[in-house]
Amino acid sequence: MTDRKSARLIDFHCHLDLYPDHAAAVAQRERERVFTLAVTTTPKAFPRNKELADRTKYVRAALGLHPQLVAERAKELSIWKEYLPSTRYVGEVGLDAGRRFYASFEQQKSVFSEILGACAYAGDKILSVHSVRCAKVVLDMIEARLPVGNNRVVLHWFTGSASEARRAAEMGCYFSINAEMLRNDRSAKIVHSLPKERILTETDGPFTAGGPSGGAPADVRPARDGLANLYNLEHDEMDILINENLRTLLS
Ligand code: MN
Repeated sequence: MTDRKSARLIDFHCHLDLYPDHAAAVAQRERERVFTLAVTTTPKAFPRNKELADRTKYVRAALGLHPQLVAERAKELSIWKEYLPSTRYVGEVGLDAGRRFYASFEQQKSVFSEILGACAYAGDKILSVHSVRCAKVVLDMIEARLPVGNNRVVLHWFTGSASEARRAAEMGCYFSINAEMLRNDRSAKIVHSLPKERILTETDGPFTAGGPSGGAPADVRPARDGLANLYNLEHDEMDILINENLRTLLS
């Protein structure tokens, strides 16, 4: 069991390599003992992320190919596949049906399909998945391509409907929640409806403002505090719950 003293802050989706000083951002997370999933947007960024993360106790590097970059970088899927055996963590991957990226949606689906297939074949992967404006398609593809087994999916910044959230939870998905999601009533209500044992925290830094950080990684405490408030728990009770959830996810 996790007790108060061993409970850590957890940022399960953060782009540490997009901060002005990547190495300093990693070092800060290590110093502050914040468990951090450092997601990448292109597989070319993965080796440096892995090199820095491997020297830490609290930072993990995830291998990504961001759906918003697929139009220009679909060719890097071969590099992504080459690195897959070297990591348990995959992200940021998924689909984006927002207006700016819809032109590449078919191409995104084909890349995501290959990613899911490769993860299903390899097994024991943990995926941080983007699903802007297409939660249903993302869930359909996960259901079809990543059969329930020892792979795990964490839906990052989920903005689907209440029924899509319920379906995702029934499929076994986890959800990483950031402070922005809790500032919006509709989305806070959906977060509140999720099974508590499937909740993690994230910042998606530097894409969300985590308060005045001056180049330092975003603060994950606003997400933790917002969740504690939503669930009517003390901050340390919330930390223990999230640490237990992480432990189950990684086990
Ligand atoms: Mn992200």
